[in-house]
Amino acid sequence: MIGDKEPESPLGVVVKLERDGVTFFRRANEIAADPRVRQLFERLARDREEGARLIEDAIAKAGVKVPPATGASLYPFEAVAKVECYACGYVATEIPTSCPQCGAARYSFEKEFTAAMVWEIVMSSGTALAHAAQASLAGARGGLKVALESLLKREQALTKEAEGELASAKA
Ligand SMILES: [Zn+2]
Repeated sequence: MIGDKEPESPLGVVVKLERDGVTFFRRANEIAADPRVRQLFERLARDREEGARLIEDAIAKAGVKVPPATGASLYPFEAVAKVECYACGYVATEIPTSCPQCGAARYSFEKEFTAAMVWEIVMSSGTALAHAAQASLAGARGGLKVALESLLKREQALTKEAEGELASAKA
């Protein structure tokens, strides 16, 4: 089936969710204040990167053409787009070595993320990823099928972990 009226390819959605995740978690890692949260962002960025490579390699080997997904991103990019000096409210896109307006130190620009916030993002993106991987499995064969199955397992394990973390955060 060729045409520009096709519904969004679930495989394209898988790729986008993995790639957007790498970009989002890397950026969040750069601006987060808490070292433990930074470590978590780093792990999540690495995880999405591995997932992206896994599926991109399988797509390349299978020789299938995947139209890029164009939908809105599931990651809250607006929450990490800007940093703000908590002392004077100066807004910047990158963290300066010190605030150009009030001279406050670098850390005045770092953002606080609660663990619950992070795990909510993992939960929503992981659930969407698992759905898209499952939808892609229907038409997949060989190496692509194997890659999707392994991706699905990874996401299910991660969303399960997120579920547990969210439950204990709320307890
Ligand atoms: Zn300032």
